[in-house]
Amino acid sequence: MKRNLLQIATLFFSVLSTMAQTRPAADLVIRNAKVWTVDSARPEAEAVAVLGDRIVAVGSNPDVDGWRGPNTQVIDGKGKRLLPGFNDSHVHFLSGGAGLDQVQLNDATSLQEFVRRIGERAANTPQGEWILGGTWDETKWNPPQLPIRQAIDSVTGNVPVAVARYDGHMVLANSLALKLAEITVHTPDPAGGEIVRDAQGNPTGALKDAAQDLLFKVVPPPSHDQRRRAIERALVHAASLGVTSVQDMNPEYADIAIYSELLEEGKLTARIYAAPLIPQVDDQVKIGIRHAFGSSYLRIGALKSYADGSLGSRTAYFFEPFSDQPNNRGLLADGMHPISLMRDRMMKADASGLQLCTHAIGDAGISAILDIYSEIEKAHGPRDRRWRIEHAQHMAEKDFDRFAQLRVIASVQPYHAIDDGRWAEGRLGHDRSSRTYAFRTFMNHGVRLAFGTDWDVAPLNPMLSLYAAVTRATLDGKNPNGWYPDQKLTIREGIEAYTMGSAYAEFQEKEKGSITPGKLADMVLLSEDVLTIDPVKIREVKVLKTWVGGKLIYDSAGLGSDRN
Ligand SMILES: [Zn+2]
Repeated sequence: MKRNLLQIATLFFSVLSTMAQTRPAADLVIRNAKVWTVDSARPEAEAVAVLGDRIVAVGSNPDVDGWRGPNTQVIDGKGKRLLPGFNDSHVHFLSGGAGLDQVQLNDATSLQEFVRRIGERAANTPQGEWILGGTWDETKWNPPQLPIRQAIDSVTGNVPVAVARYDGHMVLANSLALKLAEITVHTPDPAGGEIVRDAQGNPTGALKDAAQDLLFKVVPPPSHDQRRRAIERALVHAASLGVTSVQDMNPEYADIAIYSELLEEGKLTARIYAAPLIPQVDDQVKIGIRHAFGSSYLRIGALKSYADGSLGSRTAYFFEPFSDQPNNRGLLADGMHPISLMRDRMMKADASGLQLCTHAIGDAGISAILDIYSEIEKAHGPRDRRWRIEHAQHMAEKDFDRFAQLRVIASVQPYHAIDDGRWAEGRLGHDRSSRTYAFRTFMNHGVRLAFGTDWDVAPLNPMLSLYAAVTRATLDGKNPNGWYPDQKLTIREGIEAYTMGSAYAEFQEKEKGSITPGKLADMVLLSEDVLTIDPVKIREVKVLKTWVGGKLIYDSAGLGSDRN
C-alpha cells in the first residue's frame, strides 16, 4: 500500500515535471465563463489561460485546467460573459479625464439650469482659474437656443469662462474671457470659423470652430500635474468600463509625455495609440518612425486631421445646404484652406509611412478627403495604409464604393447616432438622413468599421455605444424601433467593430482584438450576457472585472486592483 502510493506519487511528479518542461503553469485561469472570443476559428469557449501578459489557451474547462499549477490564480466566471477588452478607436483622453472634474452642463434641461450651474462653479473657482469644459447641449433645452454671454456675465464676475459645446465645435465665452482674448466687434471671422454676432455686430460670446482658437490661445495650458491627474482619472474610468485600449485623437505632446511617464512607472492601465494633429507632421517625419510605432502600451505614428466641423454646429461641409438653412452648407476646416495645404501635409505623412486619421462629417467633407487619399495612392502606389475617416457621418451615395476601393476604415461612434438622431433629420432631410451613421451600408460595401465614442463628446461606456448600434433608439425615446432601422447592426457585429475592428484600425489585429492564444490578455467580464439579453437592456450591463495584459485592473466587487 505504502509502496503503491509512493510509486503513484513518483509517477505523478514525473508527469508534472515533464509538463513543466513543455508547458509552464498559467498565471491566471478564468473558467466557467461564457467566452465570446471574436475569433471565428473558435467563437465560443468556457475558459481562458493566461501566462505573463498573453493568452495561452482558450477552450472548455477541462482543456484549460491542464494549465493550472500551484500558483495559478483561478477565477470562477460563474457563467458570466467574457469578451475581449474594448478598444475605443476615437477618444480625447485628457479632456475626458479633466471633464470628470469640470462643471457638468450636458444634462442641463434649460438655459436657467445652465446659468445656475456655471454660477455655482464660479463661486468655487480660485482666482486666476478659468471655467472650462462643460459639454453643454442647447438642443436639450426647452426652448433650444444658443446661449449668449450676457446670460452668464452676472453670475461669473471675475472668473473667465470658456465652456464648450458637447461636440467641441463651439464655445461660449463670458464678457471677461472675450476681453482677455481681445475679441471685439472689430475682430474679423477667421478662416474656418465664426464669431457669432448680434444684430449690431457685437460678439455674443459663442465662437464656432476655428474662432474658438482666438479664445483658447489665452487660456493658460494645464500644468504637468493637472495633466497627469486628468489622465490618471481617465485611466481609472476606462478600466471601470472594460476599455483596455484607446486611440487618442489630437493629444498634445505633453500628454504623450505623461503616458510615457506612467508607462515607465507601470501605471498605464490602457493601451494608447496617440495621433497628434497633422500640422505637426514634420516631427514624426523627422524621427523616421512609421505607423503604429512603439510598445504594446504606447504607440505613435498616426496623424489626426480635420476636414470640416460638426452637424450640431452646422459646420459639417455638405454638397447641398442644410435643409433648414438654404444659404448654409457648412465649412471646410481651416487646415483645408486651401485644400492643397492638406494634400501636401498628407502626401508628406504618407511618404514617411505614417497613418492618416481624418475627421470628416459632411458628405462633401468626406468626399474631399477621399479625393486626397486617392491622389496619394496614385502618387505613391498601393500599400497597406489603413486610412481612416473619423466619424464618416453623412455619406454621399457615390462615395460608399470609393470608400471601399480605397480600403478606408470608417472609425465611427454609434452613440452619436442616437444622440444626433433626435434632430438630425430636420437639418439633413430624409434622403441624406438615410445615409447617416450608415453602419449597415458600410458593411454591405465591405468597409471595415472601428467603433469608438469620441469621449468626452459622448460617454466612454461601450455598453451605450453597443446599445446605440444595435437599437438605434434615439435618446428622446421617439424611435423605439430604431432611427433608420435598416442601419442596425447585430450585437456580434457591434462587439467585433469594438474589438477586432478597432485593433485593425491601429494595425494591431495580430496582437489584440480577440481572445486567441498568443494575443495580449485584455479581457472584460460582464454582469449580463450581452449576446442574448433584450437589446434594450444592453445599456444597463455593468463590467465585473477588467484585465489588461492578464492583470486585473478593475474589480466591481472591490476586491482590490492590481495596477502593476
Ligand atoms: Zn473627436
